[in-house]
Amino acid sequence: MSGPSVWALVTGTSAVDLRGVSRPLSLVLEGIVQTEVVQHCLVCGCTELEVVDKDNALNSCRSCKFVFDSPRPTVEELITFYSKFGQYDDWLEAGEARDRLWVTRVQKMLPTRRRGNLLDVGTGIGQFLHHAKPYFDDVYGTEVSSSAIEIARSRYGLDVFEGKLEDLQFKQKFDNITVFHVLEHVPDPRQLVDHCFELLNPAGMLYIAVPNELRSALRATKDRLGRLGIPRYRSTQRLGIPRIRLDGSMGEIHLSHFREESLQLLLQRAGFVVVEAGLDPYSVATGHRGLIDKSLLRVGNVVKRVTGVNIYDAIWMAAVKPVTS
Ligand SMILES: [Zn+2]
Repeated sequence: MSGPSVWALVTGTSAVDLRGVSRPLSLVLEGIVQTEVVQHCLVCGCTELEVVDKDNALNSCRSCKFVFDSPRPTVEELITFYSKFGQYDDWLEAGEARDRLWVTRVQKMLPTRRRGNLLDVGTGIGQFLHHAKPYFDDVYGTEVSSSAIEIARSRYGLDVFEGKLEDLQFKQKFDNITVFHVLEHVPDPRQLVDHCFELLNPAGMLYIAVPNELRSALRATKDRLGRLGIPRYRSTQRLGIPRIRLDGSMGEIHLSHFREESLQLLLQRAGFVVVEAGLDPYSVATGHRGLIDKSLLRVGNVVKRVTGVNIYDAIWMAAVKPVTS
């Protein structure tokens, strides 16, 4: 990746940064935000990239078809964003529904989990570890937000490592690692997955959940309604993915947009063997919306079983580190 650039001058339809590099204005992110250009595919490393949605700054790898944002905000901009628009209040408010979600994810892990310990990457306020604790010898978490760590400590008595996984030093290896809805936010998903591989014991399990933005039937339906002229769903997004905005109008910033195939490739490249590819039951909605989400999950599971294609909004994948690696 190239170094960060500061957009300095806007002339007509172009923006020129301090190094004199000119780009179409449509590619420059909202406001004066430091950006970086991604120079290689974040999944396979290929440098042959193409712009697939210019208006929303989306690129795709010619080799593996992985879709990602570029230019995108620098890590520093993202840290500022998350500290300014932290989402932990919402997590606390949706307490019970979130509890149910975490119990479901623990249940999903039980048939394939290894006996021993568990490390949860990006553990937030610690709800998942709280529910997972009875099934493991020890549970550990990592988290970059100090306010979330404080909640994990005071609410659940959990010991959480502060910082990014790649910056932390661990005394032990792990038997299970979970990375739930983290990979789409990090600048270098390959590095994170490689790190998980290093940190696992042989035969250790890795569990990942990410959004399924590019294959979601719900998104595709909304796009179709938009094209039919229904104002609520009209958009300029070719892939159904909006341009990154750091003005607080977006709750989360996704830098990567995985399909099942790209996530699988990412894991295989690191040395993992994928043992399960399914649907992640991510929804915490209640009431009317909750019932709709449950039905969508049920339909999604049937479609996945019959056709092998995941049309639901989120992907679940479990992979093992081979004993012989
Ligand atoms: Zn690629």
